[in-house]
Amino acid sequence: MTEMELNIVNMYPDILNLYGDLGNLIAIKQRCLWRNIKVNVENFTIDNETNLNEADIIVIGGGADTGQNIVSKHLTQHQKVLSEHVEDNKFLLAICGSYQMFGTTYIDANKNKIPCLEIFDIETISEENRLIGNIIIESNLELKNKNIIGFENHGGRTYHDYKSLGRVKLGNGNNGKDKTEGMIYKNFIGSYLHGPLLPKNPELTDHIILNTLKKKYSVDSLSPLNNNIENNAHNAIERQIYINK
Ligand code: GLN
Repeated sequence: MTEMELNIVNMYPDILNLYGDLGNLIAIKQRCLWRNIKVNVENFTIDNETNLNEADIIVIGGGADTGQNIVSKHLTQHQKVLSEHVEDNKFLLAICGSYQMFGTTYIDANKNKIPCLEIFDIETISEENRLIGNIIIESNLELKNKNIIGFENHGGRTYHDYKSLGRVKLGNGNNGKDKTEGMIYKNFIGSYLHGPLLPKNPELTDHIILNTLKKKYSVDSLSPLNNNIENNAHNAIERQIYINK
């Protein structure tokens, strides 16, 4: 059997990497390596533009308004390739600040308009009080354990009409009002969930790996892994969230 390999591009790891978002890349990579799937990782940043065309999966973390300001002009120069990646059904995970920048508008805490990719019809406007804390959502993805857990810390309120990543069970999500969290379009996942998101939600990580391999190698399942540690971390946080409610 041919050796399977995945190309992952991690965008702006030096600028957009809040609350351990780098852990998303590490989780995908490690769960592949445990299954003998080869992983090639490229870092892409302002003074190191690696090839986005070759990426099977792109991950981008969150950033404070200052970080978003720094990358925005550079990021928007890559609008076309990112849009093609998404339209081609490839995975792209964008967390918090980068999720906001896939939209049409981001007005930051100082009322400045930060240039956005305008790939999706998403609008985000900052408000003074921040939405901070642990969060549980019931996912709209086909996952056996529907609950996804994470941590959010954002001033931006996001509004859109796409399918959300999930329904907020505890916490704030997109805007603290409509109970939606994140968005899904094809294999684009935008989310406010740090934590980092993927290590404590192994089923979501495997959803990304499996669907990428399906497209590339027509595989229909992944070899099972022992998820005791990951599930314990997930459950402990889930319990803590309910206790603190
Ligand atoms: N600067 C954005 C906000 O506060 C994003 C913050 C983040 O990525 N956690 O809304």
